[in-house]
Amino acid sequence: MSITKSVFGETADGRTVHLYTLTNANNMVAKITDFGGIVTHLLAPDKNGRFADVVLGFDSFEKYLEPHPYFGALIGRVCNRIAGSQFTLEGGSYKLAANDGKNHLHGGLMGFDKVLWDAAVFETSDRVSLRLSYLSKDGEEGYPGNLSVMVFYSLTDENELVIDYTASTDKPTPVNLTQHNYFNLKGEGSGDILDHVISIAANRYLISGEGLIPTGEIVKVENTPMDFTTPTAAGQRIHQVDGGYDHDFQVRGWSKRLFKLRPAAVVTEPVSGRVMEVLTTEPAIHLYTGNFLDGTITGKSGRPYEKQSGFCLETQHYPDSPNIPLFPSIILKPGQSYRHTTIHRFTVS
Ligand code: BGC
Repeated sequence: MSITKSVFGETADGRTVHLYTLTNANNMVAKITDFGGIVTHLLAPDKNGRFADVVLGFDSFEKYLEPHPYFGALIGRVCNRIAGSQFTLEGGSYKLAANDGKNHLHGGLMGFDKVLWDAAVFETSDRVSLRLSYLSKDGEEGYPGNLSVMVFYSLTDENELVIDYTASTDKPTPVNLTQHNYFNLKGEGSGDILDHVISIAANRYLISGEGLIPTGEIVKVENTPMDFTTPTAAGQRIHQVDGGYDHDFQVRGWSKRLFKLRPAAVVTEPVSGRVMEVLTTEPAIHLYTGNFLDGTITGKSGRPYEKQSGFCLETQHYPDSPNIPLFPSIILKPGQSYRHTTIHRFTVS
C-alpha cells in the first residue's frame, strides 16, 4: 500500500496542482488530483488479473482546463440541475449561473470540479486516503453561506474506492454533492458501454421533462426501459429512451433518519469479467450513459470518446430539490452536518 504525490500542473493564478497516486495491497491504483478532486486514473483487474484503466480522463493537467463534461470530478455545491437557475430559501431569492440553457448544472461556472482543494494523505492498516478540503465562500456561484466541505477518497485492500463527504455551513444553503467518474469496465477508450450489464436497486425513478428537469413524479420502473431490477444490458432498451439514459433512480431503503449504506447498483462487463458494485447512503442514483459525448474529446489512450463510451452512476439527492417541495430537503443549516458515503467496489465474475 502506498500514496505518493507529484506535481501535475499550475493554476492560472500560479498555484501548484498535485496528482496523488493511491495503490492498495492488490496493486489497484487510483490517481486523483487536488484540482476538482478529479479521479484521473483507476486501474482495476479483470478475471485474469490484468489491469485496465476504467475511467475516462486525461494524462495532462492542461486538458482538464479545456471544456470537458466533468470527467472524474467532485460536483457541488449542488449537483445536477436547478430549474431556471434560481431558488428561494427562507424568504430570500437566489440567482445562480445559467450554464445549461436556462438551467444551472453541477454547481455553476466554477463549481467544485474547477477549484483547487487542500489535500492531506492518510494511511491505516487497510486503506490509503486522500483528504480534500475546500471552503466555498458565502455568495460563491450565487449560493448563500460559507460552506466548509471535506471529502475523503480512500482505496481499500478490498478493492473499494470509498468516497466520504462531510460539510457544514454558517447560513442555510442547499447542498447535494456527488462524484462524476465516467466508467468503462473494458477500459477507457475501448468503445461503448452498451454491453455492460446493469442492475439498479430501484423500484421507482424520476420523470423528467424539458431540459431534463424532474417534474416531481416518482413512478414505478415496472414495464419501462428503466427497469434494472434484474441485470440488463445498458443497450438492450436504450433506443426506447429519448436521448439515452440520464435519469435518477430512487434507491431502495432510504430514510432521512438513518445514515445507512445500501446496495445501489451492480455493473458487469461480460468479457473482462470486471464488476463494479455501488453502495451509498444517498436516496438516489443517477444513471447517465454519456449521451453527450460525441468524439470531439480525445482521452488518455489517444482515442476519441464517442457517444456512450462511458457511464456515470452518481449517488445523490434528487435534482432540482430546492424547487420541488415533495422531494427530501437538501437544505443544510448551521449546526447540522452533511454526510454522504459512497463505495465503488471492484470484483470479477
Ligand atoms: C448529467 C447530464 C450531463 C452530464 C455532463 C450528468 O450528470 O445528468 O445531463 O450532460 O452530467 O454534464
